Amino acid sequence: MSKTEELKALCQKLGKKYVGFRGNPRAPIWLVGEAPGAEEDQAGIPFVGSSGRELDKMLHEADLSLSDCCFTNIYKIRPPNNEIERIEENGISKEIYIEQFFEELEEYRPTFIVPVGGTALEPLCPLTIDARDKESKISKWRGSLLESPRLSWSHYVLPNFHPAYVLREWSDRVVTVFVFARLKEEFDFWLANKRLQPLPSRELITEPSFPVAREFLIELLNADLPISADFELLARRVPYTLALANDIRRGISIGLFEYSPAEMLTLWRLIDAILARKRIIGQNWTTFDGNWANALGWPSGVGRCDDTLVRHHVLWPEMSHKLDFQVMQYTRQPYYKDEGKGWRLREGLKKLMRYNCLDAVCTLECYLEQEKEFEENQNLKKFYQDYEMPLARAFHKIDQRGILVDQGALSVLRREILEELDNRCVSISQRLGNRPVVYSAQMGIRLAKQLSIDPQHIFNIASVPQLKEVLKNDLKIKLRIDRKTHKESTGEESLNEAFAETSNPVLKDLLRTRELNKILGTYVDARLNANVFYSCYSVTGTVTGRRASRKTFLGYGSNGQNQPKHSDLGEKFQGVFTSRPNRIFVYCDQASAEEWIVQGIIADVSGDTKGIEELKESIRSGISRHARLASLIFNLPIEKTNDKECLEYYVGKKTRHACNYDMRENTMAAQMAAEGYAVGPKFCLAIQTKFHEVEPSIRGVYHKHIQHELVTKRFLRTPLGRERTFFGLHPNRDNGKVFREAYAYIPQSTIGDNNGLAILYCEQTRPKWVYKDRTDGVLLDGHDSTMLEVEDNFDTILEALALLKAAYNRTMRFEHGFEVQVPIDCKIGYSIKGLAKCPADLNVPGLRNIHDTLKSRQKALTSITFGPPRQESPQHSSEMST
Ligand code: URA
Repeated sequence: MSKTEELKALCQKLGKKYVGFRGNPRAPIWLVGEAPGAEEDQAGIPFVGSSGRELDKMLHEADLSLSDCCFTNIYKIRPPNNEIERIEENGISKEIYIEQFFEELEEYRPTFIVPVGGTALEPLCPLTIDARDKESKISKWRGSLLESPRLSWSHYVLPNFHPAYVLREWSDRVVTVFVFARLKEEFDFWLANKRLQPLPSRELITEPSFPVAREFLIELLNADLPISADFELLARRVPYTLALANDIRRGISIGLFEYSPAEMLTLWRLIDAILARKRIIGQNWTTFDGNWANALGWPSGVGRCDDTLVRHHVLWPEMSHKLDFQVMQYTRQPYYKDEGKGWRLREGLKKLMRYNCLDAVCTLECYLEQEKEFEENQNLKKFYQDYEMPLARAFHKIDQRGILVDQGALSVLRREILEELDNRCVSISQRLGNRPVVYSAQMGIRLAKQLSIDPQHIFNIASVPQLKEVLKNDLKIKLRIDRKTHKESTGEESLNEAFAETSNPVLKDLLRTRELNKILGTYVDARLNANVFYSCYSVTGTVTGRRASRKTFLGYGSNGQNQPKHSDLGEKFQGVFTSRPNRIFVYCDQASAEEWIVQGIIADVSGDTKGIEELKESIRSGISRHARLASLIFNLPIEKTNDKECLEYYVGKKTRHACNYDMRENTMAAQMAAEGYAVGPKFCLAIQTKFHEVEPSIRGVYHKHIQHELVTKRFLRTPLGRERTFFGLHPNRDNGKVFREAYAYIPQSTIGDNNGLAILYCEQTRPKWVYKDRTDGVLLDGHDSTMLEVEDNFDTILEALALLKAAYNRTMRFEHGFEVQVPIDCKIGYSIKGLAKCPADLNVPGLRNIHDTLKSRQKALTSITFGPPRQESPQHSSEMST
């Protein structure tokens, strides 16, 4: 009796329906799911429900004919409640199903097997089972051409996402269709050639002898081709081997310390010549490998590099830009990224070098494929060549400047934070019947020892399970359910929402403790080098193109760009950043920046220039638009609302922002709560309604226009040339979330790029009458603002202001020809907190006055002392050793 017959008999005995094939099992392509669902169980046919219909559509879009496909499942019976983990509750062991499936495969011998989802992939290719999670991660393996060790005939296993997942995560549908398109290509090759297309064959030279390494390097130097390069590190800290390739079929990995001193000298000199002269291709070369090259004493090569990460960000902003994704997208190389993980020196260098070589050749292949994509989109090619890549190179230099920190002010701030943390814990404890409260696990252990009590009795705010328990059981707070995890969320927004609803003071204390802890860990305790705070800016950090920043490759500093600004703590923190001796900060920001873009689009598509006129008028009269709006909403005289400190002004500003981007009232309430105003969602909804009554063009023109663009083209282009396709847009579902992202996209991206272009201008022109020293230049990119540091002398300040004016002197042209220019406000000062506003027309007497006042105040501030570099805190040393 065959295994299929046995299983069918077993099913009959247990009263379960056996669901076999849809389509002809002799078809060359098998799509293999996990188990039948309710509709499949009813029909006795796999993939006939919503997942199946979506699967058919995607196959069709990839040009695959259903008659070439057969559909089945690994497990032939519906699991209880569709939960695959419960499959054995049916009374049949997993092994029985799996053995039956392999018998079936053996009988029909399909050439292409497409497991959709990890459950089906696992038994086919056990190699894909993750060492840590003990399951196959489809998000790693989708798109890889694999072979099953259990199958003896010529075949490919090509994993893909499950259609049920696609229905949940619609933005991944494009990747799923892409993988099916790869299947179609492989299938066509097989049909035409009567054999499978072989996997790429590459010569990966590992552990090369000295003559081989030298010959290879000389060959690279002499060829007129760009060179792909990649460093591999030991324990993420020591650069150990460098892979190089100028041909996708051949790469070498050269150990940096594997040769005699004389041989190393020769090889290192050759590498030096390559990095000094050749065009370098690298994945994340600008913020990673280039820095390591520099750290080893070589030229960084950044000035002549093309970074595949940056290129992918321009071409495919919504996709993952990691190399594993790009390798899947652009090459036929199966997933190999796990080979470079968990690797140990004692295992020998070969494995690491193979991985290193693959990175270099695959990066080169990605680069070449991207060249083709750029040829097809000249707009993006120009955007990359003239702007995003040069900006990435400029930030490589900016990152090396850092900002000086006033150690005295930093110590005061640290003390204040620790004190407040203690006080907040006491306050929470009092409201919880004097239960001991701490804000870190170590503190909890220490306190438990001191008090000789069970650590479980201590409430550690940083512990999510404990926090949930206290919120639910002690405070009776209902937490919002996270849409992705389907679990109660203790995230900031959720707690802020709860605070907006309940005004419970414990929530405020909890949120504040979190804020304090974050500022302490991320900023106040950041590692400094010679009292300088460093940041590494990434031009690929966000989908809008706004930069993101983080600590440097050596672990110094942190995210300098998103320093907390708006809270009292943020302000205090900004007080610790000072200009270097004999230097001054010259700062500017784009006034009402994103509003110019929103109103520009309204004027462009409808001819209604009221908003733009109001923006211009507010510059002339000094009466803010937020004040005007607040006056309308609250029916108050404008003299009362035109005060940045008054609540109505703040609400006016928040409301405009929220309504421009169609923010949900809950989110708006949570954001306001985060800034200390516990107004509930109902209040927010009421003022939003009022806003739309007085500003009908936001919904009537702006939102409608963006929706129309998305629905008809699925794509937005900013006036500065950045493009984004919205892959999450669904043809017939509520697209509220996607639309909300789209409303914010053009304004945020345009202002971010206007800033990027200004920074690029400042760094590329580098006029010597402004920058007197190598370290003078841009220090900060604040999305809509820029800060320079220049010599503290009045003429240089004037020149720096002129430079900034020129840098932002850019007309932005919308689709139908309407043009706007975003004005800037300038400030100067000796600390970020102490920046003083310059007169709007930058008149010389006014400026001189401000400069003189700042200078005399600066002299009086004798308390500023730059102490010796701070001892590393134990927390950091442990972080560096992990
Ligand atoms: N999901 C599966 O994995 N298989 C089916 O047949 C239907 C839904």
